[in-house]
Amino acid sequence: MMKKFIMAPGPTAIPAEVLAEASMPIPHHRTPGFQAMFKAASEGLQLFFRTKNPVITFASVGTGSMEAAVANLTSPGEKVLVASSGWFGKRWNDICKVYSVQTDYYECEWGQAVDPAEVEKRLKANPEIKLVFTTLNETATGNLNDVQSLAKVAHAAGALIVVDAVSGLGAAPCETDGWGLDVVVSGSQKGFMIPPGLSFTSVNPAATEKNKIAKNPRFYFSYEKALKKLTEEKMPDTPFTPAISLVIQLKKALELIHQEGMENVWKRHAGLAKATRAGVEALGLKLYAPKSPSPAVTSVISPEGIDSGLINKAYRDTYGISIAGGQGPAKGKIFRIGHLGYVDGSDTILAIARLEMILHKLGKPVPLGAGVKAVQQVLLEENL
Ligand code: PMP
Repeated sequence: MMKKFIMAPGPTAIPAEVLAEASMPIPHHRTPGFQAMFKAASEGLQLFFRTKNPVITFASVGTGSMEAAVANLTSPGEKVLVASSGWFGKRWNDICKVYSVQTDYYECEWGQAVDPAEVEKRLKANPEIKLVFTTLNETATGNLNDVQSLAKVAHAAGALIVVDAVSGLGAAPCETDGWGLDVVVSGSQKGFMIPPGLSFTSVNPAATEKNKIAKNPRFYFSYEKALKKLTEEKMPDTPFTPAISLVIQLKKALELIHQEGMENVWKRHAGLAKATRAGVEALGLKLYAPKSPSPAVTSVISPEGIDSGLINKAYRDTYGISIAGGQGPAKGKIFRIGHLGYVDGSDTILAIARLEMILHKLGKPVPLGAGVKAVQQVLLEENL
């Protein structure tokens, strides 16, 4: 028997109470019972996004909401700025190309954060740009971007900012209204603690105005249709059949999150990230994004001479633990330990204890317990 653990930066572990919701017979979606649940879930999302504006729920993965943002906000031939710090940042660029949108593509060095001064410089050089697409938490590198500062420079140049917070929301503070983030997109299999299949988009009034003049095509992913059903009916609704079971799970998961409180959820993620970093550094390993580390996932450079895929494989095949490997230029070089969503200090202790054993098995022995001790010290300090 091998017990399975999911410690990736998505899909993430799901609490038992949330799993249980999906085992119930599904209600029809055009019933008062389900509509009340959808209303509660939509209100819970607004608290999670820290916005008073509507948050659209699409039945799709996170990339669906990214594509929806491009389709709903741009016109063919329009030029936008994409500010990327890795694999998922580049996805904005790829989607823009499909929609005939020109991009000024700025990618900082992997492991670094997007530099607001560089964004400012590029916006000054391209005054026609009215949209900046960026990423809160770059999952591929494990770096957090300062979207508050990026929003400031975008707005100062008369542009809107669209943030991919697929893996960042719930882990890192993200004040959608407080920082003036015009559109924020996210996905269910991350900080929301439910399975993949729902994506979410907050749209502020400035983005709604941009949507009205944007000419790229959309049908299912139309903001107009979704916002009309969400805000103009007696009860919030969706234009097409919602993913009923997932919405019911979402409502439950958001109840758990709001019982804990957003500030406490952020603190827990920050503490677990700090403990994970302390653990790997105590083993002599180096972080891939040490200057702007993510609270959702810690990227670690594989020891000299070891393909990081071997560490990933050992976690999975020997100990039943799914972590994540490197993507793109980081393939084979880094491994990524998630601490996102339904996680606590015991998960971090497990991840680092097993890492010590894996390094032994791969011929890079470390003093057993050195990483775990560093983790425990941080967990005690952080009361986790
Ligand atoms: N953006 C980020 C930052 C992500 O981490 C991911 C998923 N790992 C995505 C976008 C894409 O999400 P999905 O796989 O749900 O389409």
